[in-house]
Amino acid sequence: MRSTMMDTPLQVSRLLDHGRTVHGSSEVITWTAEGARRTSYAEVGADAARLAHALRDDLGITGDERIGTLMWNNAEHLIAYLAVPSMGAVLHTLNLRLFPEQLIYIVNHAEDRVILVDSTLIPLLAGVLPHLSRLRHIVVVGGGDSAPLEVASGGGIAIHRWEELLRGKPDRFGWPSIDERDAAALCYTSGTTGNPKGVAYSHRSIYLHSMQVCSVEAFGLGPASKVLAVVPMFHAMAWGLPYASFLSGASLVMPDRFLQAAPLAAMIASQRPTLAGAVPTIWTDLLAHLDANPTDVSSMREVVVGGSACPPALMHAFSERHGVEIIHAWGMTEMSPLGSVSRPPAGLAGAEAWAYRYTQGRLPASVEGRIVGPDGSVMPNDGKSVGELEVRGPWITQGYIGDAEPDPEKFRDGWLRTGDVGVLSADGYLSLSDRAKDVIKSGGEWISSVELENALMAHPAVLEACVVGVPDERWGERPLATVVLREGSSATPAELRDFLAATVAHWQLPERWAFIDAVPKTSVGKFDKKRVRAQYADGSLALSSI
Ligand code: AMP
Repeated sequence: MRSTMMDTPLQVSRLLDHGRTVHGSSEVITWTAEGARRTSYAEVGADAARLAHALRDDLGITGDERIGTLMWNNAEHLIAYLAVPSMGAVLHTLNLRLFPEQLIYIVNHAEDRVILVDSTLIPLLAGVLPHLSRLRHIVVVGGGDSAPLEVASGGGIAIHRWEELLRGKPDRFGWPSIDERDAAALCYTSGTTGNPKGVAYSHRSIYLHSMQVCSVEAFGLGPASKVLAVVPMFHAMAWGLPYASFLSGASLVMPDRFLQAAPLAAMIASQRPTLAGAVPTIWTDLLAHLDANPTDVSSMREVVVGGSACPPALMHAFSERHGVEIIHAWGMTEMSPLGSVSRPPAGLAGAEAWAYRYTQGRLPASVEGRIVGPDGSVMPNDGKSVGELEVRGPWITQGYIGDAEPDPEKFRDGWLRTGDVGVLSADGYLSLSDRAKDVIKSGGEWISSVELENALMAHPAVLEACVVGVPDERWGERPLATVVLREGSSATPAELRDFLAATVAHWQLPERWAFIDAVPKTSVGKFDKKRVRAQYADGSLALSSI
C-alpha cells in the first residue's frame, strides 16, 4: 500500500522563505573593524532574491552552474548560501587557506563560473586567477581596490561590485522547483595525499541535516538562540549552522576575519551568544586569553567543539573556570558534517556524566554506524571491540565528485569508511582513539596518539601537545611528543614523562621530545601531523634529551 502523504521536495528555498518571513526579525551580526554590523533575516531574504536576479539576469547564470565563494563568515556569505542553491545553481565554498595549487584545482574541477570574493581576499584570488580556466565573472563584496583582479584576469573576466549588482533588483524571486536529490552545494576535503576530493550535498541532505542540527539531541536551536559560528563557512558548511539558524530562527554572530582570541572575547562579551562552535585550537587560544583577561562569557550556554578530539582538560577548564559547558561532537565533510554529539544519558551526574562527555557522543537515528575489523568483519557494539568506524545515512556521501566508481579505500558496500578508529558502545556512544593513519604501532602494540596528547594537555605548563609516530629500529614505531609550553611556564621532558606515567602505561611513554613554538595546523585548524612527521624526518625539529 502506498502512503497518502504529499511528496513535496525538501529544498533550500523553503529554509530561505521560512526564515525571511517567520523569523524575519532574527539577525545575522557580522563583526567588523568598527564593531558589529546587523542584518535582519528579512533583509537577508530580500538580498538573496536580489543576488539571484543579478546572477541570472546580469551574469547569465542558468541551471546548475557553480558559484564559488571565497569569503569569511559574514552576512553576504549567508545570503549566497541561501540564494545560490535556491535558484537552482550550486554553491561551492572555497577554503581560503588551501595552497594555491589546491585552490586552482578545486575551482577548475568544479568548473566554477562565478566567484564571490570578500575584498580583503582580492590578493589571494588575483594570485591564482590566470589559472582559473572556466571562470567568467567575479563579484567583489565590500570596498577596496579591485585593480589586482583586472590586471591578473587580463580583461577576460568581468569584475562586478556586489552593491552595484544588487541595487534596484526586485526583492522577490520565483524560486524554481528543484529535484531534492540534485546538488545544492559542494565542499572539497583535502586528504593527506593526492588532490582534494569533492562532495556534493543535495537539497534533501541539507534540509534533513538542518533539522538534525536544530534538534535537542544536537545543538537545540530556536528563536531565542544566538549562535557564534566560528567554524568557517568554507569548512564543512560551518557544521550546518547557517541553514539550521535560518530554519529555527536562531540569530547568528559571524566573526568575519576576526578569529583571534581577543576579538572573539570582545564579540562574546558584547553580543552575548548562547552557543558557539569551533575546533579545539580556537578554544585553547581563547581559554589562555580569558585566563589572562577575565571576560564574562557566561552567556554561552554551550560551546560545541569538534573537528578534532577535544582534550578533557579543555572541557574541565571552561566548565570550572568560566561556567561554560563544552559539548564534544564528531563529524566529517563527507557527512554534511554532523555525526555524533556527546550528551550523557538522562539522570547521570558527576564523574559518570563526565565519562560520557569525553566520548565523541551518540549517533543519531539517521546515522548508522558499525565497527569493522582489519579483516573486514563487523565487530560487536560492546564498547571494547576496536576497529574502523563505517557510517551510512541520508546526509552521508556515497562517493566523490567525478569518480566513476566509489573509491574502495573510502567506501565499502554502501558504507563510508571514516578512517577513524574506535569503539561503539551498546547504548550508541562512539569513542574514537585515533585516525587510522595516526595510530602508532610499537612492537606490535597500538598506541593512541590522541590519548597521549590529551594526557599531556592536562599538565598545567602545556598549552598544546601533538604526538606522532616516528620510525624506530627496535620497535618499528615510537611516539614523538612535540609540546608548546604556556607563556611564562617551564617543564622538562623528564617532568612531563613522569606526569604521563600517572595515567599512561609505561611502555607507551615517549622517549623523543621537542619543545616548539606552535603546532603546525592544517587549512581547517587541525594539528598537521604530516608536517610534524616531515619535520622530524628532515631533522628540522630540535629534540630535547630526556
Ligand atoms: P573534516 O572532514 O575536515 O571535518 O575532518 C573529519 C575528520 O576529523 C574525522 O574523520 C575525524 O578524524 C576528525 N574529527 C572530527 N571531529 C572529531 C572529534 N570530535 N574527535 C576526534 N576526531 C574528530
